[in-house]
Amino acid sequence: MTITTIMRCGAGVFGEASVSTWTGDGTRRRTYAEVGERAARLAGALRGLGVDGDQRVATFAWNNTEHLEAYLAVPSMGAVLHTLNLRLFPDQLVYIANHAEDRVVIADASLIPLLAPVLARLETVRHVVLVGEGDTAPLEGAGKELHDYEELLAAAPATFAWPEIDERSAAAMCYTSGTTGNPKGVVYSHRSAYLHSMSTCTGNAMGLSASDVVLPVVPMFHANAWGLPYAAVMAGASLVMPDRFLQAEPLVRLIEAERPTVAGAVPTIWSDVLRHAKEHGSDLTSLRLVPCGGSAVPESLMRGFEEIGVRIVQAWGMTETSPVASVAHPPPGAAGEDVWRARASQGRVLAGLEMRIVGDGDVVLPRDGEAVGEVEIRGPWITGAYHLDEDPGRFHDGWLRTGDVGTLSPDGYLVLTDRAKDVIKSGGEWISSVELENHLMAHPDVVEAAVVGVPDDRWQERPLASVVVRDGAEVTAAQLREFLAGRVAKWQLPERWTFVAEIPKTSVGKFSKKTLRQMYRDGDLT
Ligand code: ADP
Repeated sequence: MTITTIMRCGAGVFGEASVSTWTGDGTRRRTYAEVGERAARLAGALRGLGVDGDQRVATFAWNNTEHLEAYLAVPSMGAVLHTLNLRLFPDQLVYIANHAEDRVVIADASLIPLLAPVLARLETVRHVVLVGEGDTAPLEGAGKELHDYEELLAAAPATFAWPEIDERSAAAMCYTSGTTGNPKGVVYSHRSAYLHSMSTCTGNAMGLSASDVVLPVVPMFHANAWGLPYAAVMAGASLVMPDRFLQAEPLVRLIEAERPTVAGAVPTIWSDVLRHAKEHGSDLTSLRLVPCGGSAVPESLMRGFEEIGVRIVQAWGMTETSPVASVAHPPPGAAGEDVWRARASQGRVLAGLEMRIVGDGDVVLPRDGEAVGEVEIRGPWITGAYHLDEDPGRFHDGWLRTGDVGTLSPDGYLVLTDRAKDVIKSGGEWISSVELENHLMAHPDVVEAAVVGVPDDRWQERPLASVVVRDGAEVTAAQLREFLAGRVAKWQLPERWTFVAEIPKTSVGKFSKKTLRQMYRDGDLT
């Protein structure tokens, strides 16, 4: 169970399938057979640069064909692929690359302006391999050897003696995006990537097959684009890559032109796409399934997509879980509101994984849809430790403490009420920020809403709602309170409201509650 096997399957059995990368007004396309040969050339070239053993080869790239080639070549040659998140602050990037001890960075030339300011501080990096055209002058003087990707490939042999790899050895690593605390390294084995890919291809997950065309909008540096690239290659599904064109308008054009059947992205992206598609009457109906997750998927978003003939399915997971762990398909035979209850949940765990909810003192709580506690998970693609054994308290007896809080129903649906850090504790009771946000985002004039707990003398904490209102709409805090009043308990209604132009986002497009809390402390939210 190795990535080499996935690559051989894609390039050998499904050689006619292809990966197409958007260029802004069209695509450039390569077959999996070609990608297989180019992966062999890349492995030879990297060996020529001295990459050996389980050394780390980093990527600093958008979702594109060359990034896929690195996804296949680096683990298959026995090295470890480390996907760098190009949206991190420079200091975080330096910390991560040094912590992982990256030897080589394969970078998109379009990202030179982001790489240049940090390159000299990447202590273990010897070589930078640049994909595409760009002015390399800003990289000179950093003390690294610069190479052109295509020139390296052209000079390397068309075949590579792929080594026999122990399936339990490291294949790839990815750092948590640090929404909470310092980024920590998660290492994926060949086996975990293989099993996660198989699982993604099952019907209870995405059901990928050779008839699919998969568009991973979720970045390849964010938990391996949710495992979609490896699963697509394994299934013989073609891939469509958005490169750096991630705004609603080009995404919609790409979907209309390339007609993907499956596309994955976080909710904030889909809500922009929905607004654009509705305004322009776009045809997104090639999509048979849109996996969405990373943060809670508002029911209003799913209903909005349903109106234009597209099915969103919510999935839950984290970098530590490879990432897909549960998927919210409704139970067979469900009807009406029961369907929506299931679809608005975080779903049922995939075969092979175990999930439970624990309370104080690690007491396992009943699966009754009522008892609220921390979600724990274990299984073959759940990480058992962080790189260099940091934060060992997150793991016990094979279980990962996820830091997510919620309930499990008798039929196994997970409903997250919060992240442990985001729970609002008011007068000894818990208020779910996620629930308030979901209700607020169902208001026709609300585009985005994020709720955080802020200190309160009397109640210890109270909710503060930050709201982005639709262009041209006028809505007051009193009206929004009124709207919520019928939907949540009265004592949960926020009395603090702030109207903002945009909710601050993390490097992977989630609402940054850390930033909101800081803005409140600094007096920047009124
Ligand atoms: P980070 O931990 O830095 O945000 P991850 O991408 O690993 O980076 O985030 C995993 C977290 O995202 C989960 O622990 C959970 O809190 C949140 N999450 C993922 N999917 C969902 C979902 N469908 N609903 C609610 N929260 C989600």
